[in-house]
Amino acid sequence: MTITDAIAEPVPQAVIDLAALRHNVSALAKLFAPSEVMLAVKADAYGHGLLPIALAGIEAGATSLAVLEIPAGLLLRHAGVTVPMLAWLHGSKTDFRAGIEADIELGISARWQLDAIAAAGADRPAVIHLKVDTGLSRNGATLEEWPGLVQSALELQSQGVVHIRAAWSHLADASIQDDEIALAEFRRAVLVAEKLGATFEVLHLAASSAGIRMPEARFDLVRLGIAAYGISPFDDSTGAELGLVPVMRLEAPVTEVHVGGSRNARLGIGYADGIPTLGIAKAHVAIGGIRRQVIAIEADSMLVDIGTDRVDVGDTAIVFGPGVNGEPIAEKWADWAETIGDEMVTGVASRVPRSYIG
Ligand SMILES: *Cc1c(COP(=O)(O)O)cnc(C)c1O
Repeated sequence: MTITDAIAEPVPQAVIDLAALRHNVSALAKLFAPSEVMLAVKADAYGHGLLPIALAGIEAGATSLAVLEIPAGLLLRHAGVTVPMLAWLHGSKTDFRAGIEADIELGISARWQLDAIAAAGADRPAVIHLKVDTGLSRNGATLEEWPGLVQSALELQSQGVVHIRAAWSHLADASIQDDEIALAEFRRAVLVAEKLGATFEVLHLAASSAGIRMPEARFDLVRLGIAAYGISPFDDSTGAELGLVPVMRLEAPVTEVHVGGSRNARLGIGYADGIPTLGIAKAHVAIGGIRRQVIAIEADSMLVDIGTDRVDVGDTAIVFGPGVNGEPIAEKWADWAETIGDEMVTGVASRVPRSYIG
C-alpha cells in the first residue's frame, strides 16, 4: 500500500443548518397549535449548540425553552434570552436562588426540592411545575407521593415562597397503549391536585413523539426535542417522512489516499469524535456524492473504500447529513449502531467544531 499524499490537518466539523431548525420548529408549531412549543435544548441542544439553537427556535415560534439544569438557563439569560425557561434536573449543589432570581421556572418532583427553595431565600416566589411520574419511573413524584408534594407546595404558595404554575409528566413513548395509560394517570393526578386546592395555568405532557401522534396529549404545550432537530422519534418513519429536515451535517476531511491493491481513503474523524464503532459492518459515508463503504473506525480516523474513483486529500466526506448527497442520515447510522438518532447527534464530541449556516 502506498500513501500518495501526506496527512492534512484533520478538521471534522458539524455544520448546523439553522434554516432547517426553523423549518422544523415552525412546521411542528403549526401542527401542535393551539398548543405551544417549549423547545428542548438540553445536552447543548442535542449537540447542536445551546445559544444558536435557542435563538433560532424562538424566531421560529417556540415560546419557551426546556433547559434541563439551572446553569444552562443562566447561560441563556446572560446571553439576553428572555423567554420562559424550565429546569427540572436538580442536585444537592443546585443554586436555586440564582435560578429563581433569573426567572427560571423549576420542575419539582420531590419534597426536598421545595425545602431547598424555601431555604434559598430568593427575592421572589419560585415559579414551579409540579411533576408526577406516570410510569416512566424517572424524575417525578410517584402517585403515592403526589398528594403530599402538592400539599407542601400549596403551603409554600400561601407563604409566598412559590407560585404553582403547572402540572406535568413525561411519557415513556414505548407504545401508544402505555402512553394512553400514562395520559389517564396524568389526568387523574391533576384532578387529585385540584381537589387539594391547586389550580394550574398550564398542563404539559407530550414530547416529540406524543406531540406528533397523540393530539390529546398536547395540552397547553409540547416539550419538543428530537423532532426539532430533524430526527424522527419513531422507529417506523424517518424525519424526512414526517416533513422534517435534519439540522446537523457531520463532515470530515480526507487526510490520506491509499492506492495499492485496495484503494481507500482515510478520514479525519473517529470514535473519539463520536462515531460508533458498532456500526462498522454496514456503515457508509459519502465522498463526491457517492457512497463509500466504511472499512475501519479508529480513535481519530476512519478508513473508507474508494473503489476505482479518484479521491483527493482535502476532499470532504459527509458522515451523515440530510441525505441529499449520497450520505446516510443520522438515523441510518443509529440503525447500524443499534442506537437512536438522538445519540448520534448528541454524541458528536465537543472537540468537533460546530459551524452555522442558514
Ligand atoms: C428530553 C426531554 C424532552 C424532549 O424529548 P424528545 O423526545 O427529544 O422530544 C421533553 N421533556 C423532557 C422532560 C425531556 O427530558
